[in-house]
Amino acid sequence: MSKPERGIVLGGGWAGMLTARMLSRHMRHVTVVERDVYPDTPRSRKGTPQARHSHILWSGGARVVEEFLPGTLDRLTDAGAHRIVLQRDAVTLGPHGWQHRFPSRQFALMCGRPLLDWVVREQVLATGHIRVRQHTEALALAGGPERITGVRVRDTVGGAEETLRADLVVDVTGRGSRITNWLGELGLPPLDEDVVDAGMAYCSRIYQAPPGATKGFPPVNLAADPHTGEPGRFGAVYPQEGGRWIVTLAGTRGAGLPTHEADFLPYARSLRDPLVADLLEDATPLTGLMVSHFGVNRRLYPERLGRWPEGLLMLGDALAVFNPIYGHGMSAAARGVAALDEHLTKPGPRTARDAQAAIGERVDAPWIMAASKDIEYVNCRVRTTDPRLTGGAADRHRFSAFIDTRALRSPAVSAVMTDVASLSTSPAELSSSRFLALMSKDELLPELTAPPLSADELALVNLEPRTPVTAAAGPLGSPAVVSEEGPTS
Ligand SMILES: Cc1cc2nc3c(=O)[nH]c(=O)nc-3n(C[C@H](O)[C@H](O)[C@H](O)COP(=O)(O)OP(=O)(O)OC[C@H]3O[C@@H](n4cnc5c(N)ncnc54)[C@H](O)[C@@H]3O)c2cc1C
Repeated sequence: MSKPERGIVLGGGWAGMLTARMLSRHMRHVTVVERDVYPDTPRSRKGTPQARHSHILWSGGARVVEEFLPGTLDRLTDAGAHRIVLQRDAVTLGPHGWQHRFPSRQFALMCGRPLLDWVVREQVLATGHIRVRQHTEALALAGGPERITGVRVRDTVGGAEETLRADLVVDVTGRGSRITNWLGELGLPPLDEDVVDAGMAYCSRIYQAPPGATKGFPPVNLAADPHTGEPGRFGAVYPQEGGRWIVTLAGTRGAGLPTHEADFLPYARSLRDPLVADLLEDATPLTGLMVSHFGVNRRLYPERLGRWPEGLLMLGDALAVFNPIYGHGMSAAARGVAALDEHLTKPGPRTARDAQAAIGERVDAPWIMAASKDIEYVNCRVRTTDPRLTGGAADRHRFSAFIDTRALRSPAVSAVMTDVASLSTSPAELSSSRFLALMSKDELLPELTAPPLSADELALVNLEPRTPVTAAAGPLGSPAVVSEEGPTS
């Protein structure tokens, strides 16, 4: 890949905006081709239907955004986004029990996805020399199997078609990308693809939080336990801007979903703990039910193609999608953009295939984390040749259950696990001698038997404490349970 001067980004969503910003550091001309028209306020739009569901941005992705667009995280929190230190500021029931609220080096931003997109887009477009062509649909790649020279586009209002020329075209058209068809039209074979599909579906609803709980009440996350052999049901209550909560109920294949508003609360009651349902009793719904069936883990391997054309790359959901319950899509996309930035910065000859391989490496951690968990669910459909998923399942599950269980009660293990979950540290750290040594000497706090909520937090939502919270000693509010330590990130 010689030094490109003119870049075209296909799709102006989350990954598209970050890609455009990154390319503008390397090229004089960057154009974004976007099929939609952007709303003039932070609202969801047709091209990103997932934006109506809960989105968290983990620190592993947030730090990349901040590097490319300094000031973005402050702008988001000024606009009402909540910066949550995990696990200190959250209440989580994992597959193996309740998580103690330990401090950590990592955080997550919680707010509406339309706000995230809005602030990032404003920041990107304010940097100048990025041209955005709205209501313009990418139809096909121009060029041949050896080199892509541009893209064929259509104006979605007038219908006029034209070819835009570029040295580099990046496909970030999201999960509906037509790249396989486009490559096929150039005579290239289909890309290798892995699929791990637990059939995850989401049902979300926005609530006005009770008056005392618009700030200061922790996000709540109730996960399923795949080892019951039953389909998994999940529930989450996340704080949003404007004193609202977004409540998501989700289930793997066979778990069903609420289909009518009247089913929402009973579904929440059917989770492993009544906390989400108890919170809903005192909150006011502001919307109807919003449903999404986009829960598959799917990864393409363009770098494996014998002849990957010069001048073409793919990123974001176009390259890999993950079960949203892990909250990794946007961070994985941001990390892919950072990988491409590093590649373009390197001196010497480059090929598009090398760049694509570097991007693929960044996708690997979220892929293996999501796929190796989802494969445990009953009714999961699997099509993969990844040896990490096809062999040694029993040993893998035993080891992951062992460390997951310790992380619930050990601050040191929890901190490393949160580093990994936030995409800040490679999962390889979990098999390092350093981590194994840490596990052999960590001290475990007593097991929690109820949600770790302080009396003050419970009062915010008019709930009574449940007793006992720990199986043995260790009253809630001890330094190890709710730390006063500030964000270390
Ligand atoms: C229910 C749900 C919940 C999620 N929750 C989280 C979460 O908590 N945390 C997280 O990190 N991720 C989450 N994700 C994943 C996240 O939404 C995606 O990873 C992220 O949006 C990927 O960005 P992208 O730019 O690749 O795709 P998108 O954001 O989908 O953008 C694609 C863009 O391409 C445009 N486009 C499409 N086709 C064309 C075309 N032919 N020509 C021109 N433009 C086109 C679209 O209009 C759109 O603007 C969730 C996903 C779902 C489905």
